[in-house]
This record gives sequence, structure tokens and C-alpha cells, in this order.
Amino acid sequence: MAEKLLTKTEADKLFGKLKKEYPNVTYYLNFKTPLQLLVCAILSAQTRDEVVNKATPELFKHFNSTKDFANADPEDINQYIKSITFFQTKSSNIIKTCKAIEEKYNGKIPKTMEELTSLPGIGRKTANTILINAFDIVNGIPVDTWVIKLSNRMGLTKNKNPDKIELDLMNILKKEDWSKAAYIFKAHGKKVCQSSIPLCSTCVLKDICPKNNITKSK
Ligand code: SF4
Repeated sequence: MAEKLLTKTEADKLFGKLKKEYPNVTYYLNFKTPLQLLVCAILSAQTRDEVVNKATPELFKHFNSTKDFANADPEDINQYIKSITFFQTKSSNIIKTCKAIEEKYNGKIPKTMEELTSLPGIGRKTANTILINAFDIVNGIPVDTWVIKLSNRMGLTKNKNPDKIELDLMNILKKEDWSKAAYIFKAHGKKVCQSSIPLCSTCVLKDICPKNNITKSK
């Protein structure tokens, strides 16, 4: 657990440094439509981005609409996503979700948090991801494992529950930073604030971060 929580001013400074460090960061899964993004987001749970990005072009050649997915036999989908963790559960969730979108929303991906989270297999993280990246609607912050780990290390929250962390981050970060926050944390986690051994001595946040391990044990 972080030694202390940052103030808003400190958080501003910290996030400003991160934005400078990662100016061009974007969402990491490849998609062309809101439906493709929804499918990518379901497939990406506990699976590396590269694996999802490798599998989806062939899948999307054969499935173009919610109707296509809703009417599919799971095996029709599975043949394209076998490299993905828990592919059978995920194909079943994609079919259920697309059936619900067909029935309740006329085949259109809904644009509100309430509607999206009413769909099978869609939680706040995925709903925020879809709203931000497919519709440019920013009402929250997607909280993934990188956000959980780094926001605790950086003293932006003391919570482990993703919904509570999202609220803490929404309170402490400027709204203009919400849409990129998750992708910036991930970029910093992969490059510097790594899961097992954070490289604090080379980190641009070493003067602000309460979890800096240079002078004290982690
Ligand atoms: S100082 Fe260390 S713990 Fe803090 S963000 Fe940088 S690498 Fe992570």
C-alpha cells in the first residue's frame, strides 16, 4: 500500500510528467467500428494485446454485424480465436451480448454506461473503453490491472476495488486526462513501473511518487 496519498496539486504534477513522457499513447487494440471494439474488449481479458490484434482481422472478415455474431454457432467463432485465453467463454459472451444488442437496441451498440453494463459480460471497464474510444464520450476511466497497480504505487488511491479506484481517479485527475489515463499508466507500467521490479531510479516520477524505492525498501 502507498505510504501516502498525493494532493490534487501533486497529482497534477505527476500526471503532467506522464503526459509529457507518453504524448502519443492510444488505445492498444485494433478496430474499425464500435462492434469490433466491443468484441476486441471482450477478447482482451487476460490476453496480451498482440494476440488479440493477430486474431481479430480474420474474425472480422467473417463477422461484420451484431446479427452475424448473434446467429453464430460458437464453433464458427472459435476457429478464429483459439489462440486467445478462455476463447470458448468469450465466444459465448460475444454471442449473448450481440443477441441482447439485437433484441434491445436494434443492432446498434448503446452509448450509455447503464445500457452497456446491462449487457452480458460488459463491466464498467469495457463500457468506459467503448464509450471513450468508439463514441468519444468520457464519463469515467477504464480501470485495468495496470491502473490498479500504478495508481496505488503513485499514491492516487488506497483502494483495490476497480470501481472505488475509478472514483478516486475521477476526483484527483482533471477530466481532460480521463480518456488517456489508462493507456498512459499501461505505457509507464510496461516501460518503467514494471510489475515485479519498478525501475524507480530511471523514473520521471521518482521525486513525487511515494513508492519510489531508491532510498527505501519497497
Ligand atoms: S518511482 Fe518507482 S514506483 Fe513510483 S511510478 Fe516510478 S517506477 Fe513506479
